[in-house]
Amino acid sequence: MTKITKSKSEWKDQLTEEQYRVTREHGTERPFTGPLLNEKRDGVYVCIGCGAPLFSSDTKYDSGTGWPSFHDAMDKDNVATKTDRSLFMTRTEVHCNQCEAHLGHVFPDGPAPTGLRYCINSASLDFTPEDS
Ligand code: FE
Repeated sequence: MTKITKSKSEWKDQLTEEQYRVTREHGTERPFTGPLLNEKRDGVYVCIGCGAPLFSSDTKYDSGTGWPSFHDAMDKDNVATKTDRSLFMTRTEVHCNQCEAHLGHVFPDGPAPTGLRYCINSASLDFTPEDS
């Protein structure tokens, strides 16, 4: 995979303020505010930064947390993780492997079959409905 790197100002030109804050500054959108929380159509969730396919609607579920939640990543090559020790917690941060956009965190309290909960900001994603 070819990594995508852009300058701060290039990202700022491409993204909204909220998308920039979340993906490039490891921000978190306020719960129950993201436009993709209640998206129920079949399709693919892609990276807002680079368009890489990240999550399938097949794995989306309502976690009750207020953020779009998935029990699996679509392609493990596109969704990368690293340990995040900020805010006096140890969590597993999730980012796009291609453009390093911060996506959210993954927790071990999800449903079967994986037992994982990918807790992802709407601001980090774009949705492509299946029939488009
Ligand atoms: Fe990306």
